[in-house]
Amino acid sequence: MSFDYDLFVIGGGSGGVRAARISAGYGAKVGLAEESRMGGTCVIRGCVPKKLMVFASTAPAEAEQARGFGWEGATAGSFSWDAFKAKLDAELNRLEAAYTRGLEAAGVNIFHQRARIVGPHEVELADGMRISARHILIAAGGRPQLPGIPGEDLGLISDDLFLLDRLPGKVLVVGGGFISCEFATILNGLGVNTTLVYRGDKVLRGFDMDLRELLTMQLADIGIHVRLKQQPARLDKAGDGVRVTFADGQSEDFDAVIFATGRTPYTKGLGLEAAGVGLTPNGAIAVDEWSQTNIPSIFAVGDVTDRVNLTPVAIREGHAFADTLFGNNPHHLNHDLVAGAVYTRPHEVATIGMTEDEAIRRGGVEIYDTRFRPMKSLFAGSDARVMMKLIVDEATRKVLGCQIFGPEAGELIQLAAIPITMGATKEDFDRTVAVHPTLAEELVTMRQPTRRHEATAPDRA
Ligand code: NDP
Repeated sequence: MSFDYDLFVIGGGSGGVRAARISAGYGAKVGLAEESRMGGTCVIRGCVPKKLMVFASTAPAEAEQARGFGWEGATAGSFSWDAFKAKLDAELNRLEAAYTRGLEAAGVNIFHQRARIVGPHEVELADGMRISARHILIAAGGRPQLPGIPGEDLGLISDDLFLLDRLPGKVLVVGGGFISCEFATILNGLGVNTTLVYRGDKVLRGFDMDLRELLTMQLADIGIHVRLKQQPARLDKAGDGVRVTFADGQSEDFDAVIFATGRTPYTKGLGLEAAGVGLTPNGAIAVDEWSQTNIPSIFAVGDVTDRVNLTPVAIREGHAFADTLFGNNPHHLNHDLVAGAVYTRPHEVATIGMTEDEAIRRGGVEIYDTRFRPMKSLFAGSDARVMMKLIVDEATRKVLGCQIFGPEAGELIQLAAIPITMGATKEDFDRTVAVHPTLAEELVTMRQPTRRHEATAPDRA
């Protein structure tokens, strides 16, 4: 049977673009449909514009630090959202064009419209055109989810933040995850009066206990109004702003409310039921380690599969898919050891592998950790403390996890991730000569375990 394409990809984000480009490079005839802008969530409304906003938001703290080093009168001046936004828009246009060019140069046919699956080997575009393909790859990503409270349509989601005409003066950020912690930090840095409300007692549920504690304290230390064990119950219009009534009955007016209450796989309207593609209980596309669904010709990568929802993971899944199907090089991604970072300020949260909470449950581990005030911020007059932690298997001596809270922690964990992925032992870290004076040298100079968790240790609450 002949098909229009060897591969048809739905979604022009990180995973879809990588899979399409690599497959085409192996000689496959590839088509790709994207209903919005090329580049997807990461490039257009996620990691990239967020990180640029992080950079923009650090200027006042950097000016303050400069004063601590004797730069009298150093000031960040006043922030122009218009000037920043114009540059941001230009940069995103440049990246979008680069993604498009890269695909076209590889020979991929791009369809700038929505596609849905109508059969194991067939998709239908929004204009009614039907296309057959030997293989279909779904890389449709995720979408923000709202908490389901009255008036929530008055709130914004993270996508909206990059489109604002002007910065609001007073903002409520709802949630205690990646996006809420990052956006609350950014807005605070840009001079916005920022409140973060979270239903738990420490932000970043699921992260290492010390990282959670330190970040929760840091959010308050930099001037964010942090409300814990609390959540909004309803939103009402109040003049040009929004009145938020909280679960305890109190209410407060804000210029804007941003919901960062999680994301869900974007499977709606994809025609999955018609094609018989199986879903997981939480609505993600169910795939095996080869990213293959229960329909042999249909595959899925990235956030739509809800495995590890990070851009580099989607890229690796897409690449492995292409290598396997068209490159005669079958392999798949190991999702167990994936490093990640939360870009808060002044200290970032960075993690790979086992957390101490997991170590306690597992037992048979040593914890090496340290907290200290780094020389740069200490000299400038700040009390902010860095935390570094290694989790080591007592029997094999392998480093099972590394947790860092500190400036540029995202950069540090990228490098620590290499030996940990290679299976390095604590003794490998120990015989690595320190680079002095750096923050990261602490990772190779922690000699004595701070504590041990025995195999029979009870759960710590
Ligand atoms: P997260 O899952 O990280 O956090 C969602 C937060 O919203 C949690 O604190 C959760 O609370 C809270 N929440 C969920 N439902 C409700 C509700 N009904 N009412 C009140 N609070 C609620 O999702 P994000 O939206 O922050 O980010 C989505 C994903 O995007 C991340 O998981 C990550 O994979 C990715 N991402 C990665 C980034 C990075 O790598 N730096 C940056 C941004 C996003 P609770 O903890 O109690 O469940």
